[in-house]
Amino acid sequence: MNTKELEKNSAIWSVAQSSTLYGMDFWGDEYFSINSKGHVQVHPHGKDFSAIDLYEMVSSFQERSIRLPLLLRFPDIIQAQMQKICSCFDKAIQDQDYKGKYYGVFPIKVNQQRHVIEDIVQAGRNLNFGLEAGSKPELLIALSCMDNPQALIICNGFKDKSYIEMALLSQKAGRNIFLVVERQKELDLILEMSQQLKLKPQIGFRLKLNTQSKGFWGKSSGEYSKFGLTSQQLVSSVEKVKQKGFLDCVKMVHFHIGSQVPSIQPIKSAIKECAMLVSELYLMKCPIQYVDVGGGLGINYDGSGATRSSTDYDIQEYANDIVFALQSLCEKKQIPQPHIISESGRFLVAQSSMLVFNVLDKNSIITDEKIKIDKNSSSFLKEMYDVYKNIPKISYNESFNDLVEKKKQIYDTFVYGMLSLKEMAIAEKIYWTSVKKLKELTENKEDYEDIFLTLKKQLTDTYFCNFSIFQSLPDSWALSYIFPILPIHRLKEKPTKQAYLVDLTCDSDGQISKIVDYSSWEIESFMPVHKLKEKEPYLMGIFLTGAYQEILGDLHNLFGDTDAVHIRVKDDNRYIIEHRVEADSISEVLEYVEFHRKQIIGNLHNITEQSIMKGHLTRQEAGLLIEKFEENLSRSTYLK
Ligand SMILES: *Cc1c(COP(=O)(O)O)cnc(C)c1O
Repeated sequence: MNTKELEKNSAIWSVAQSSTLYGMDFWGDEYFSINSKGHVQVHPHGKDFSAIDLYEMVSSFQERSIRLPLLLRFPDIIQAQMQKICSCFDKAIQDQDYKGKYYGVFPIKVNQQRHVIEDIVQAGRNLNFGLEAGSKPELLIALSCMDNPQALIICNGFKDKSYIEMALLSQKAGRNIFLVVERQKELDLILEMSQQLKLKPQIGFRLKLNTQSKGFWGKSSGEYSKFGLTSQQLVSSVEKVKQKGFLDCVKMVHFHIGSQVPSIQPIKSAIKECAMLVSELYLMKCPIQYVDVGGGLGINYDGSGATRSSTDYDIQEYANDIVFALQSLCEKKQIPQPHIISESGRFLVAQSSMLVFNVLDKNSIITDEKIKIDKNSSSFLKEMYDVYKNIPKISYNESFNDLVEKKKQIYDTFVYGMLSLKEMAIAEKIYWTSVKKLKELTENKEDYEDIFLTLKKQLTDTYFCNFSIFQSLPDSWALSYIFPILPIHRLKEKPTKQAYLVDLTCDSDGQISKIVDYSSWEIESFMPVHKLKEKEPYLMGIFLTGAYQEILGDLHNLFGDTDAVHIRVKDDNRYIIEHRVEADSISEVLEYVEFHRKQIIGNLHNITEQSIMKGHLTRQEAGLLIEKFEENLSRSTYLK
């Protein structure tokens, strides 16, 4: 295809085609779509309500000196997800005439940012949404933020005396706190301190279930998981509680089979196993009133419904199945139907954040220069040129084989000293031009699909992206996790290029390595993109990054936190910036590694003074160097 044809082609390209090509149809849910301008838009209240043009909004931010890369948070999406989970459980409870109620709690570890937690507490007020803490610092967050006495505070994680003391005192202060026993030792401490404080604690037992999930975090349950009480420990714990007169305090059981559970099957089995244990505990006179089913409710990251990055069930099915499984067993065993607690974190926040970044530059294997061959050129170059000229004349298979052979010969000939560097450059130029030509000729020809795909892969550009995978997308790096990614504008244009996306770090792992090709549902390491324009920034977005990514991110190459903004969506497609959190400055990240501002500026002064003495720098030059150094210390770690 020549340039004209490409242009013609992009003229008939539609927004709907982009929506399919980039998988928006599959993972966008009711929150994301592409508008008629070819820009990604966000509509937290659903497709028929207020929509924010992401591209226009981010572009307008540049005037307010909010910089790229930029993390955007939409608290309205968290609120919508909270309402969704509550209403789905309420519906399941109503439809099945279940006797217990539903209580949601947000596990703080999934996103600890103060603004996020405050939004959740605020939005959860009339839903009685609580918080879950998995460590002492998280407990401090929960105790300081949660002011709704109706909402639950679930205390998980390994506990020491001071953890338990704080929780019990807060119960005295009127908070609705559950202490979940992970280890027998914790139980001793809880009973001892409750006696001292003269109160009745609310105790939960974490169950070590046999059911395991096949997801990324399957090891959260099963015989050898690090969490929970085995059946023997459960029995001896009940005996201990009974002996000390606290039997009436054992009100809850808890389990968690891992995050992002891809299939509904293990969830159902876990509930059944748990319900059996509840009925046994009931026989032992523990008045279990709550079953906490933990987290694990998954998100459709790749939209497939068939991989570890997605789920084969939806939220309503999840709620129905939990309610049904509990009810059936409770009826069979004739025990009261307990209230249901869930600790879904990923489900609530994953969709609420996205990272927008600009592409800084590209590396193209093929350039636009002309091939120059004349009668003085070496015979090898002439042979190569013939291969190129012959492409339309001979069979595509033959051309392809010729090219493969010639490619190998280029390097051999150079190494044997029979080709100069300049000639090798021309040989490569001919090779890549031929690849491009053959690729265009074999496109959409069924018989030559293999050739086409091989050549297409070879012609992939590299786009240099202004962000760090290690800071902003750690699960992509550590777990090869899939996140949706696409340009947030130009989606009315056909993307005529494809590119690897590499980040700013000096690390070969600093690349988005798993990208879904939505035409074949294959996983690739490159994706369709548009040709970069000279004067217009190319903006891309990585979506569904609200769960876990921020806190797991690290300072590889000392790239720090990006700028972040919280956007509240109003009526009539308007928005306000509720909070703006400035990016880490270079001096802030240097502080983490103990390079203190004053000290390093002092060092630099010593160096410049010596250089002035030796006559290497003028005083003005020394002044300029120090000025630039100080200026950069207060800048963001990313590129301007
Ligand atoms: C991590 C965790 C959660 C949150 O799981 P999600 O899959 O994010 O919902 C809930 N409960 C416990 C005990 C956890 O460790």
